[in-house]
Amino acid sequence: MTILENGKLHRVVKRLRKLLAPKALILMYHRVAEVNSDPWSLCVTAHNFAEQLEVLQKYYQPMGLQQLAQAHRDENIPHRTVVVTFDDGYADNLHVAKPLLEQYNIPATVFVTTGYLGREREFWWDELERLLLQPTSLPEKLCLSLNGNSQQWDLSENDYEQGDCLRHGRAERQIQPWESKPGSRLFFYYSVWQQLQPLPEAEQLHVLDQILTWAETEPVTRSHYRSLLPEEVCLLAQGGLVEVGAHTVTHPLLSAHSVAFQQEEIQRSKAYLEEILQRPVTSFSYPFGNYTAQTVSLIQAAGFSCACSTVADTVWRDSDCFQFPRFQVQNWNGEEFAKRIFRWFYD
Ligand SMILES: [Zn+2]
Repeated sequence: MTILENGKLHRVVKRLRKLLAPKALILMYHRVAEVNSDPWSLCVTAHNFAEQLEVLQKYYQPMGLQQLAQAHRDENIPHRTVVVTFDDGYADNLHVAKPLLEQYNIPATVFVTTGYLGREREFWWDELERLLLQPTSLPEKLCLSLNGNSQQWDLSENDYEQGDCLRHGRAERQIQPWESKPGSRLFFYYSVWQQLQPLPEAEQLHVLDQILTWAETEPVTRSHYRSLLPEEVCLLAQGGLVEVGAHTVTHPLLSAHSVAFQQEEIQRSKAYLEEILQRPVTSFSYPFGNYTAQTVSLIQAAGFSCACSTVADTVWRDSDCFQFPRFQVQNWNGEEFAKRIFRWFYD
């Protein structure tokens, strides 16, 4: 048998073993809220969230993330296990999601971006959405100074009209930013978003201020877009059903920064949460699902016992607990959600 055939056989055997092995799903949510524009599909309505929890309660085994990490270490993952997680730390996680989690008695982990706790400004991607995607007319040319270089966008050919933003959030099959057509407002948003994503926070805020002046818009914060307050993080953890995990301080694109910067972001977010919660914080999720092998070593060295990525896959015996995969849940009703979960488990 050739080496190639041997390798192929090995992959087939591994796939078969995985197919037959007990598996878990980790679900990734961000917000339980209703908004008129949601370019990244981050929001699930309270109604649909309740239907989704009902599906989990009836047909699956909901479990906490730390409990799954322990079962994984023990090589004893119960089949049909599902773990609920939330990224970023929006206030609706406490006010809307937690009461529903309690009603269905389903545990969850909320990964909090500590630098945004109690802050006046929205997350930068939300502020950018408000400035560029809400249905207002914008000047024809945008010129930004980014890290000392200037970059220009021409909007004169833009075909964005009133109501387009609603289509971003409500379509049956929503167009994702990376699928948007050149010339569309969503494409413009995504192109500026890509420029902002790798920047350090101070630079991001500086660019947002430039856009604010350019758009001639008031610097308002939408209250329903706000982050948790520090005291609300404690309320979230109260009762033990919701675990609080870390998600860095400023939500950086970790791989775009030095190891020292990454270490600072990871350790400071953990230390801050432990200080306010008065208990160890041992779960982490990588902002934007972005990291390097060095980041994984930093997470281990900082004392976390597991970390979540955004790779869409099931968790099984051979998964790396510092790179647990997750599936992003969208605003599906119970029936559609049940179909997706089934497919994720058995495809
Ligand atoms: Zn995030």
